[in-house]
Amino acid sequence: MRAEIVSVGTELLLGQIIDTNAAYLAQRLAEIGIDVYFKQTVGDNSTRVEEAVRLALSRADVVLMTGGLGPTEDDLTVASVAAALGVDLTHDEAVATHIRRFFENRGRTPPQTVFKQALLPRGARVIPNPRGTAPGIHLEYRGRVIFIMPGVPYEMKGMMEGYVLAALRDRAGLAVIRSRIMRVTGEGESAVEVRIKDLLQQTVPTIAPYAKLGEVHLRLTAKGPPDDVAAALTRGEAQVRERLGELLYGVDEQTLEEVVAGLLTSQKRTVAVAESCTGGLLSQRLTTVPGSSEFFVEGVVAYSNESKSRDVGVPPDLIVSHGAVSAEVAEAMAAGIRERAGADVGLGVTGIAGPAGGTPEKPVGLVFIALADSGGPLHRRLMFGSEAGREGIRFLAAQAALNLLRLHLLRA
Ligand code: ATP
Ligand code: MG
Repeated sequence: MRAEIVSVGTELLLGQIIDTNAAYLAQRLAEIGIDVYFKQTVGDNSTRVEEAVRLALSRADVVLMTGGLGPTEDDLTVASVAAALGVDLTHDEAVATHIRRFFENRGRTPPQTVFKQALLPRGARVIPNPRGTAPGIHLEYRGRVIFIMPGVPYEMKGMMEGYVLAALRDRAGLAVIRSRIMRVTGEGESAVEVRIKDLLQQTVPTIAPYAKLGEVHLRLTAKGPPDDVAAALTRGEAQVRERLGELLYGVDEQTLEEVVAGLLTSQKRTVAVAESCTGGLLSQRLTTVPGSSEFFVEGVVAYSNESKSRDVGVPPDLIVSHGAVSAEVAEAMAAGIRERAGADVGLGVTGIAGPAGGTPEKPVGLVFIALADSGGPLHRRLMFGSEAGREGIRFLAAQAALNLLRLHLLRA
């Protein structure tokens, strides 16, 4: 079954409001396995609304409309739909009574214009509106169905959840579309793709990669009866896990910092960080996780050479001989902050975020991350493209440091 969403309202075309109704409707439809191939947005103009309805009916089984259902002059959705279907409008006494009651309950007299909402296309069924006066409309037309709902999101959702979804489920037979996101970090999109190339051809579930900054998301999607869908996603997840192993850090909404926090907490270990080019981003990400006081001891932004020596104990001659951006200094930062904080693990980050400050030997995007534990320090040299920009390089450096910590904890 195919659905089309038609949003009515000139303010949508002008960009004054965002079409959150269409996003909401699309999500609800996906959940019950109804495909949406097209969405239309049309202004408050009867000819064009009529045209949009005809087009939608030519290619969809279900048309969901929102907006332009009110009592004012520019609310012309109902009349335009009637025109598109070639049916006339008739007065519905039950709707008129609902409107009278709605106003009485609020101690107000209904203005005459509001009774325009009691004019319904012939053959229409009323969708009750417990949250407002405009009734929704359910129309059957040559094997197709049209649902017209108010533009006000709160009223629209009330109708969708109280009536339309149940009607659609009955028609569609219970099918669902579900997705699972598998989150990967530590390798780029093409390297990840190579490992799962054959899986990208399969259809149950479908697997599609999306490149994000510092990570790759694999979206697994399956459609059908709920049990089959759940089984397909479990199977797909196992396939991906087998191929990607430790590159895979989380599922769905899980963030890298949450995963790291979970490992530190369950292993009852603590961490302290010394940051230069990330300027506190690493500390910020680690402390975003609720309960971080369990494992986060302290973070120092050791930005200047003086601070690197004074605050985290990097020997000044190390900075002179190797430069502030070097493997030696990163390791000394990690070991120094671990020592100072009395933490189980220390992390150090130093690099050139740019745009200035690069040299041929040490270009913009060069970052050293280091980790120290009781066994001593180790480091990684990373080279990020300068096109990532200053913010991008800072984020990528923090991401890599978190991932270094994650892998260390996994193997510990
Ligand atoms: P009313 O009875 O209030 O006139 P209506 O059905 O005529 O309702 P509109 O006049 O089109 O609806 O829109 C009412 C309000 O609902 C708009 O001002 C806007 O804030 C919101 N709205 C309308 N359409 C959308 C949409 N597609 N997405 C999000 N909000 C919307
Ligand atoms: Mg209106």
